[in-house]
Amino acid sequence: MPTIDRDAVLDATDLTALATEICGEPQGRGRAARWHCPNPAHPDEHPSMGIYQGHHGRWRWKCHACGDGGTAIDLLMTGTGMTVREALLDLADRAGITPAQHHTPHRPRSTAHPTPTPPAEQLTPVDPAIGTLVTAAADLLWRPIGSGARRYLHNRGLTDRLLAANRVGFDPGPRHLPRPDGLPRAGPGIVFPVLHPTDRRPVYYQLRYLNPELRRRYDQPAHDLAPNPKLAHLTTDRPAHPNLTVVCEGFPDALTAAHSGLAAVALLGTAHASPASAPTLARRLTEERPGSAFIICFDDDTAHDPGKLPAGQNAAARLADELAQHQRLVLNIQTPAGIKDLNAWWQQDPGAVHTVFRDLATLLELPHPAIGPPTDSPRPTGPALPEGP
Ligand SMILES: [Zn+2]
Repeated sequence: MPTIDRDAVLDATDLTALATEICGEPQGRGRAARWHCPNPAHPDEHPSMGIYQGHHGRWRWKCHACGDGGTAIDLLMTGTGMTVREALLDLADRAGITPAQHHTPHRPRSTAHPTPTPPAEQLTPVDPAIGTLVTAAADLLWRPIGSGARRYLHNRGLTDRLLAANRVGFDPGPRHLPRPDGLPRAGPGIVFPVLHPTDRRPVYYQLRYLNPELRRRYDQPAHDLAPNPKLAHLTTDRPAHPNLTVVCEGFPDALTAAHSGLAAVALLGTAHASPASAPTLARRLTEERPGSAFIICFDDDTAHDPGKLPAGQNAAARLADELAQHQRLVLNIQTPAGIKDLNAWWQQDPGAVHTVFRDLATLLELPHPAIGPPTDSPRPTGPALPEGP
């Protein structure tokens, strides 16, 4: 795997410019400049984040309210949800440092002013290993070796038809299913693929580890094999309501919404709805779901721990605001008190979830005077939401 000189990347990074990109314009100037904290879990209304020169003369940031801080790499990880490797590669890209070139002696410092680059998803091609693994895993789920994974998914109320329609799979781990470096290898786990919105080709996946002993529950391909697409469009196994999209946090919740016969989108981490990222996210959603109204249902992080920050609900409110600015109808719904997420709610009371979606669809089917049919022509009636099981 290519290596990158971390120090060279940090030296070539303009932390002030990066902070403004991620956190917005600062208040104040020079040493007194303060940015809104990049930590999505810290709703920093009065800017608390400053930049200062640390040991070895390297620039660092610190939020004086929540204590979060670090280098430019930490800033990207905190503000966008990137992994350390993704953040390092992103900064290297901006500074014009590539893994093959980083040892070039005396690289001129003029490259310290990076030119704007298009988003990573337009630059990084998807490695064919992604498609190979997703296809193999989608097959293994239905074989005897996948029985434990199928039980896990059935216990979450997900039907075989829905799992097959979304090419959900089982990764037994590298001993049974070889893969190149850069793909998750601490399996076994469930493979939730991200399929291209138009040609349905696998472009990414998220692995949900089944071993509860592991420190991390989810893993994903390295940035240089496939960029994180941030959003996954799920397929429902019935005719979807044409003008309604549910946006959820993660795959199990989005599959739950798809199970109710709705077009569903999984957001791969609420960090992508941070103050800096929410406008881009909303623009993409309106482009990828033209004419659709949106229901947002993110996790209640405080459901089991009232001491936690309501990061999910803050992200949902931000995204709802942004979508509304695109003249879309948006409803932000929350699970009942004490229930963490949509899938947990469905497990507890499937009928209630179907009823809520049906009622919301009725509520949102408002006449549209601008583009609706003439009043004397028959109004087309959209398909009713199917009954729950
Ligand atoms: Zn903070």
